[in-house]
Amino acid sequence: MSKEYDVVILGGGTGGYVAAIRAAQLGLQTAIVEKSKLGGTCLHSGCIPSKALLKSAEVFRVASNEANEFGVNTGDVSLDFSQVQKRKNQIVGQLHAGVESLMKKGKIDVFHGTGRILGASIFSPMPGTISVEMDNGDENEILILKNLIIATGSKPKTLPGLDIDGKQVLTSQEALEMKALPSSVTIIGGGVIGIEWASMLNDFGVQVTVLDRLERILATEDHEVAVTVKKSLEKRGVTFRLGASINTDSLQKQEGEVTISYQLDDQVQSVSSEKILVSVGRAPVIDDIGLQNTEIQVENGTIQTNKFYQTKDQHIYAIGDVIGGLQLAHMAEHEGLFAVDHIAGIKREPLNNDLVPHCVYSYPETAAVGLTEQQAEERGINVRVGKFPFKANGKALVNGYAEGFVKILADQDSEDIVGVHMVGPHVTDLISEAGLAMVLNAIPWEVSSAIHPHPTLSEAFSEAALAVEGIAIHM
Ligand code: FAD
Repeated sequence: MSKEYDVVILGGGTGGYVAAIRAAQLGLQTAIVEKSKLGGTCLHSGCIPSKALLKSAEVFRVASNEANEFGVNTGDVSLDFSQVQKRKNQIVGQLHAGVESLMKKGKIDVFHGTGRILGASIFSPMPGTISVEMDNGDENEILILKNLIIATGSKPKTLPGLDIDGKQVLTSQEALEMKALPSSVTIIGGGVIGIEWASMLNDFGVQVTVLDRLERILATEDHEVAVTVKKSLEKRGVTFRLGASINTDSLQKQEGEVTISYQLDDQVQSVSSEKILVSVGRAPVIDDIGLQNTEIQVENGTIQTNKFYQTKDQHIYAIGDVIGGLQLAHMAEHEGLFAVDHIAGIKREPLNNDLVPHCVYSYPETAAVGLTEQQAEERGINVRVGKFPFKANGKALVNGYAEGFVKILADQDSEDIVGVHMVGPHVTDLISEAGLAMVLNAIPWEVSSAIHPHPTLSEAFSEAALAVEGIAIHM
């Protein structure tokens, strides 16, 4: 059967379903095609389930090791991992139901099946018509459209020769579904996902080793921030093998144990653990979606677009992880909103990647927006740095966790804030104020003249702004 739409969205992850809602709000006839579950990676195998597990891990750590400090004696603490998983699944289920009801509210047609792009055909002289192979076995649906948004997302990568068996060698996708915790895990990759898992598993009492070919962890974050996280994890017992060249051919599996070797400092070493977690990045999903029937260009596995998210076929847009760049849920969401506004003829300034916050939900958390000192130097921007430690912040001490700092970089000439880097308590929530300050081109003086309530963690941001001028109060 064929149906006609103003906008069809291929992929119902964060980018896709948010774009569908905006299109419906603008009065466009909208359909979305999803081959798995609405909500995509972020809701079902990314942001939300991983943060739910991190929260359980934090509660376990606090109850086991830290509650006594607050005068609360917990006695013997034990972990019910099936309840941890149940809680995670309930949160995901609740949010999933919410997304489904938003589709109904917006009168968005949802097609559950695998969509493929057709070339010019009897349905349309232009490529882009979507053929949906329906999950329920019904005959294919044909969606004729004026505009298509590709939002097919990404999938976990692995290293050549390192096959994911889902039992002993996992990606975060399989790890999220573990029925029981292993006693030990080797994590390959010290990026955002690897470090969040290292922190979570360590808090759950699992022995963790992190291997990375780079000499540092969290390569996209401020150097000092990354060092702070590494030191904290090391202090809690995580082992790092950085600068390690991993030999995937050496992988040996035995009952309950898997061993892999790597070269470090000219020596071949090996590590054995119950499981290996591979977190070496994510690859866009572009196979078998019919790109060969279009003019769409692909480079390094990512769909190429202009700054309005249009591909070479201008009525076909692409957003989210499938176009690479910052593979973040909020980025996918804003790209989706932007693409729909462009389709509707609403003129907006292109998104500025320098204003996109990025967070790591480990313990301690990290959060940043804008340039690092190194990036500022590469762009020829001379910066003044203001830094304020959480150990001088009353609320951080009250909360019982005062590790970390807030760092602000301001352009020496224009005085504008060009970067903010944080590590410590609740910084993933604090970073939004920094993002707003940068969107409004604020200078440090303006940040510090906005009165911050006392005692709050947010005072650390205000104090760091004063520190740019060398006049922080509590330091
Ligand atoms: P996706 O969410 O991947 O959605 C794509 C959808 O398209 C999927 O539902 C898929 O089934 C569907 N699809 C694909 N092909 C077809 C087809 N042919 N037909 C129909 N449907 C199709 N980001 C953050 O911002 N914060 C975090 O804390 C965070 N944590 C993460 C933790 C983990 C462990 C992982 C893996 C990722 C995390 N991310 C996080 C990244 C975030 O999940 C992604 O950036 C985000 O999901 C991208 O959204 P998207 O819409 O582009 O793609």
